[in-house]
Amino acid sequence: MRYFARPIARLVGQLTKLPGIGPKTAQRLAFHILGEPRAVSRELADAILEAKEKIKYCSRCCNLTEEDPCLICSDRERDGKLLCVVEHPQDIVAMEKTGEFQGYYHTLHGSISPIDGIGPEELKIKELLNRLEESNFEEIIVATDPNVEGEATALYLARILKPLGYRITRIAHGLPIGGDLEYADEVTLGKSLQGRKEL
Ligand SMILES: [Zn+2]
Repeated sequence: MRYFARPIARLVGQLTKLPGIGPKTAQRLAFHILGEPRAVSRELADAILEAKEKIKYCSRCCNLTEEDPCLICSDRERDGKLLCVVEHPQDIVAMEKTGEFQGYYHTLHGSISPIDGIGPEELKIKELLNRLEESNFEEIIVATDPNVEGEATALYLARILKPLGYRITRIAHGLPIGGDLEYADEVTLGKSLQGRKEL
């Protein structure tokens, strides 16, 4: 980084910490930002800070939201018998884009991964159980990622939720194995939802 003036090195260093941004891309972005008017940088910095300050977890579904409860939880038109459990807030965006799901969501904020030291306690499962006590869901669709951690999480949820009388289903395979739900195309994800199977 000794080729850069210190403030440029700092900016490149920060950008490199972002997912999917390697050193070359970070350098390209940094020089792009420096070539733009000051107002553009201020707008970018403000947008980051505003999002960090105003966005919080929905107290019901743990989705990221400005309003609490979030817009989906506040929507009385949705199907109160269906709950879809996902790993990340961005998975809700993917599911909504399919236009196939009319129920509510719950975000776990991760998946069970013993290798990474992530057990059920690290996920928003306690929040899920508390919420279930006060709602009338009948079917819980587990839409965790189609990988080892996602499957382990689905089986764990089935084990604790089935005895409570819920119908537990898992979105069908057909999604790329080892992949991320958020990157699945809308048609594939929609079909996967329609073809869900009992766990
Ligand atoms: Zn919500």
